[in-house]
Amino acid sequence: MFNRCSGWRARRHPASHPDHEPGSCRRCWRPCLASIEPPTRVCAGCLAAASRSPMPSVRLAVAEHPDTGADVLAVLATDVDFAVSDAARPKRET
Ligand SMILES: [Zn+2]
Ligand SMILES: [Zn+2]
Repeated sequence: MFNRCSGWRARRHPASHPDHEPGSCRRCWRPCLASIEPPTRVCAGCLAAASRSPMPSVRLAVAEHPDTGADVLAVLATDVDFAVSDAARPKRET
């Protein structure tokens, strides 16, 4: 039994599509569909690639994704975008 990765892999972005988000445009993105072990939904390769996206909204989605590994979160915790770095930091108990 396995899942198919529900992540998206970047194609070469057309110059007129600088900010198309994953899944929004089939010219910029293709489904990954890599075989992965349940309950994981998105493979580590997709999460690592998305964590290097120039779009803060994409990096934020990685920071908030339950399958994102500690190594990727550690990088995102130093992100220049405050929303991203805040989401990637371990939540403190209050
Ligand atoms: Zn596009
Ligand atoms: Zn994938």
